[in-house]
Amino acid sequence: MDLDADIQKLPIKKDLWDVVDYINALFKKAIDYGASDIHVEPTEDFLLIRFRKDGDFMIIDKVHPENISAIVTRLKVLSKIKIDENKKPQDGKIVYFYEADDMNVDIRLSTLPTTYGEKVVMRILKQDASLTNIEALWLIDINVEKVREALKSNYWIMLVAWPTGSGKSTTLFGILKHFNPLAYNISTLEDPIEYNIEYVNQSQVKPEIWYTFSTGLRSLVRQDPDIIMVWEIRDKETATLAVEAALTWHLVLSTIHTNSAAGTVQRLINMWVEPFLLASAMKMVISQRLWKRLCQSCKKEHPLKDYEMKKVKDFLAPIVEKDQLENLVFYKWEWCDVCRQTWYKWRLWIHEVLIVWDFLEPLILNKESANAMRTIAIENWMITIVQDALFKALMWETTVEEALKLI
Ligand SMILES: [Zn+2]
Repeated sequence: MDLDADIQKLPIKKDLWDVVDYINALFKKAIDYGASDIHVEPTEDFLLIRFRKDGDFMIIDKVHPENISAIVTRLKVLSKIKIDENKKPQDGKIVYFYEADDMNVDIRLSTLPTTYGEKVVMRILKQDASLTNIEALWLIDINVEKVREALKSNYWIMLVAWPTGSGKSTTLFGILKHFNPLAYNISTLEDPIEYNIEYVNQSQVKPEIWYTFSTGLRSLVRQDPDIIMVWEIRDKETATLAVEAALTWHLVLSTIHTNSAAGTVQRLINMWVEPFLLASAMKMVISQRLWKRLCQSCKKEHPLKDYEMKKVKDFLAPIVEKDQLENLVFYKWEWCDVCRQTWYKWRLWIHEVLIVWDFLEPLILNKESANAMRTIAIENWMITIVQDALFKALMWETTVEEALKLI
């Protein structure tokens, strides 16, 4: 995408007819597109409207400066913030009714005074209804069982997402949805709050006023919680507090940036979390990756080359009965009109679920390498991420070609 060319060729819109309609249409378009943010920014010559989607910006509109005040005022009215205040930043919230899905969508708004006027940024918050449950997270059956079993106890559960933007919030909230918030005290520390969940105490951290994951966690444990979700472990203090919370009988859910399930243990040891505490606090690590899904409109049976089939069998042999490895059928997609338009919707996740059983404890205590831990975990029936991807290829949801890229 060439943003400079996009902005050049777009004409400046002078007559908006009706600002109310214009803004409603803008919200609708943003949600239709699956955008996460709407930026309304005054420049020297026009009001620039951009969407952020999957991390990238797209240019939506250029509006003549004479409309700026009407647009900003309308947004302020909708979000119930002060209309006459334009010297200081303000925060508000808009509830927009999205007809296509027959649901309300919360939009968090913030304003900031800039050189050419107030800039308005809106974050589109997805609603509870769009959240999924454990069964819909693309976990294979054996892993669903492992996750369910692990959630029965009060322990520390980690989720690893590589790379960033691999949908960790969907998984985290999918796990959280497993619990009835009326039967438990569920509290979260988030940055930012992306989904609103009824009866869950969600709290937004604000590092600028020293309300961080670690200071927040200290306060949360005094709130009589059952389940605590910390958006991300970034430092030793948060990691240590999370371990302590797990050891005092709380279920703690959180995420960390590493590149494998076994690497997480390593990462925490490197953060100077005491190995003996880690060994008893940690129960499960889910490593996940966003993956290309086959287009349902054009997928077709696809015979593998001999060497590909051999690789597939080598990978699956340790975990699948021999006779089940005969006559394997795989699919592939050919680009069609549907997927050309909507390829970004065809996504699934692949996982590696590591359960910290007794067999891992001595390795954690001895601070062994991630590789050593991984080897032992595989010997104890951990499905590797390659095997997981191959299972999904066998379910005709992705291709062998994609799965083998992981090796
Ligand atoms: Zn297609």
